[in-house]
Amino acid sequence: MLPSLDSSAKGLRPLETHISHAGVAGDAREAIAGCALWNSFLASRKRTLRVVLTCLAVVLLSCPAWADKTSDLELLRRCYPEAVKSVDPGGLTLTDGVKLAYHDNGPPKTPEETLDHPSLEDMLAQPYPLGAVTREPAPEFDPGRRRVAAFFKAVYGHDAGEVKANLTAVKFLSTTVSFNAKNGAAKALQAVGMDLEELLRAHPEYRARLLPISGTFAWRKVAATERLSMHSFGAAIDVNAKANTYWRWYKGADPLGLRTAFPARVVEIFERHGFIWGGKWARFDIMHFEYRPELIAKARKDAAPAP
Ligand SMILES: [Zn+2]
Repeated sequence: MLPSLDSSAKGLRPLETHISHAGVAGDAREAIAGCALWNSFLASRKRTLRVVLTCLAVVLLSCPAWADKTSDLELLRRCYPEAVKSVDPGGLTLTDGVKLAYHDNGPPKTPEETLDHPSLEDMLAQPYPLGAVTREPAPEFDPGRRRVAAFFKAVYGHDAGEVKANLTAVKFLSTTVSFNAKNGAAKALQAVGMDLEELLRAHPEYRARLLPISGTFAWRKVAATERLSMHSFGAAIDVNAKANTYWRWYKGADPLGLRTAFPARVVEIFERHGFIWGGKWARFDIMHFEYRPELIAKARKDAAPAP
């Protein structure tokens, strides 16, 4: 067994005595040699410990990123099987031949630059919160507003004409709307409509919140930006724009009141079928729902207890 530091410290006292009274005698030299050996043993143990700790830190730091990248790319393949041809080491190859990198290796981006030019990693980085809203989101917390346009072009159509050709009529509450048939978006909206019908039978007061529908497909950019809106792809729906506002229009001082006044059960139905709600964004859009099954699937996975 190795001596403790205490006992080795005690062992130094006789050595001091020998040195002061009789110079460096034989047993003192042995003690010195023993100390040198002990110090070198301690130094080598420290070196080994440093190497082990460094390796451990590298493994701990790199594993979550690696796991996020792999699981995010697999998630996109699972949620958009028609558009993702393969998951590659650095990103995705889409069925239209476009290759998208998971990371972009440029300098750090401002929040606005991240919205303008997100990577796949950025697109999935902000976790969409399921459930009722109870507090204001942090500034710049807009899960779902970072969209890689090239990705959604491969999913839903590359221009207005191509998207239009993919639209189909969906019966939604008491009306009919156009929605993109690709990737199950229209089917998901139809399922939302059916569940909402049932909810409205019990809560007819919610009807005025939802109707009339203010729009689905419109090939356009997000207001005051160069970014394509999800409406461009026919994969978003605005419910009654007069009853539900947008952050740029809002002149009041109680955004949380706006969020909580919207029926949480309506939001829950949309989320159940793969839609996210703009009412959960810092820059809120209370009327807006868009089909983003990857964000809902990721949120459910994060919310699930560990196996
Ligand atoms: Zn909208």
